[in-house]
Amino acid sequence: MEAGRLADSYGGYRSRLVETLRSNGINDMSVLRAFGEVPRHLFVPEALRRRAYEDTALPIGHGQTISQPTTQARYLQSLSLTGVEQVLEVGTGSGYQAALLTMVAAQVVSVERIPALASGARRALAEANASAVTVLDGDGSLGWKPLAPYDAILVAAASPAVPEPLLRQLKDGGRLVVPVADGAVQKLRQILRHGDAFVESELGEVQFVPLIGRHGYADNGKQGNLL
Ligand code: SAH
Repeated sequence: MEAGRLADSYGGYRSRLVETLRSNGINDMSVLRAFGEVPRHLFVPEALRRRAYEDTALPIGHGQTISQPTTQARYLQSLSLTGVEQVLEVGTGSGYQAALLTMVAAQVVSVERIPALASGARRALAEANASAVTVLDGDGSLGWKPLAPYDAILVAAASPAVPEPLLRQLKDGGRLVVPVADGAVQKLRQILRHGDAFVESELGEVQFVPLIGRHGYADNGKQGNLL
């Protein structure tokens, strides 16, 4: 898709970020290309723009964060997308990961529970020319049934267990990545669907804000404090 390729002054920073990702073991060319093209500075608060291409998580308001690029790249790489897939993202946040996804998949559906973040993400995605994405308001722990099934589902918030509806909304051959709490740490789990069988593997430790919803944590008004 057409995100990026903007005549902005951040191209050099993006190239350096791509080099950092490469040195952190990211070798999927389409993933690296996505990071080289999507203007991350449009997805962070204005006051943080000069830090937009650092390989760090940054606050985006409402107690939430835009994840660290290396973590997002690992996610994307683990999904092995080829450009033809229908993908569901749970936890739009800034919209940056959704923009990256449009570069490596055909169509992206992204669900966000905080309406102010969802509208901010829609604005940033429009500014970045990322048109192959629909941002929806709602509880993504339920998935998004009207547009299911999906080739890939990516959950950008940590859950106490794998949300069941997401398994049901995977296509045969589809894959889900979701951070699941395991005691005090979170582990990124990958689940591949083969017919009615689900094959699980673990992709290492991660740190995400909590998934709050019916199949996640209860909303106790302390979101973000679990980290
Ligand atoms: N992928 C994002 C970062 C996501 S941070 C980016 O690139 O910026 C995690 C997001 O998940 C937060 O915005 C949080 O509000 C959202 N979230 C938490 N629980 C959710 C739920 N049940 N449904 C949808 N979004 C949820």
